[in-house]
Amino acid sequence: MKLVFATNNEHKLREVQEILGDNFEILSLNDIGCTEDIPETADTLEGNASLKAHYVYERYGYPCFADDTGLEVEALGMAPGVYSARFAGPQRSSADNMQKLLSDMNKIKNRKARFRTVISYITDGNEQLFEGIVDGAILNASQGSKGFGYDPVFKPDGYQQSFAQMDAALKNEISHRGRAVASFVEYLKHS
Ligand code: IMP
Repeated sequence: MKLVFATNNEHKLREVQEILGDNFEILSLNDIGCTEDIPETADTLEGNASLKAHYVYERYGYPCFADDTGLEVEALGMAPGVYSARFAGPQRSSADNMQKLLSDMNKIKNRKARFRTVISYITDGNEQLFEGIVDGAILNASQGSKGFGYDPVFKPDGYQQSFAQMDAALKNEISHRGRAVASFVEYLKHS
């Protein structure tokens, strides 16, 4: 069965294809010739995942899934959330985003935060949503150089390392995206 994953991120494509195995063929946006900038104008993760999946399903006709992720910080009223990629501005710089986060969190005692991923899957005109969450804390300074995005300033609960100090395999196993993908894949295998 062919499924479109509404992304061109090689890392995400490989990760999901490996979990799904040979019964499913994952196609990227490039694979189906979709070169447009898909609008991500919703104000929730669910809304953006859904917009992306609908966009592809309606124009290209393939069963499609899309993901959206945000970092939700309790003391900041769950910001930056859906705006995580552009927290410090439209340049979408991870370094600037982390710097802004550390500065907004300066002197704040409550460091509780979580990453949340939502996946929207559309097939036969029906939509299903899947969610993955990892709880943790915002560090006082960045630690480690692996991973991407906010990894150096996020420490998952139960671990002494930031995401950026972990091997990719461990991060994928416990991460928000790993958990959302696992629940989606579980559904696909039984559908
Ligand atoms: P996206 O929805 O996967 O594009 O993620 C939106 C933004 O959230 C990214 O630009 C990153 O800043 C951040 N982000 C998503 N996943 C992770 C992660 O696993 N670690 C660190 N930051 C992440």
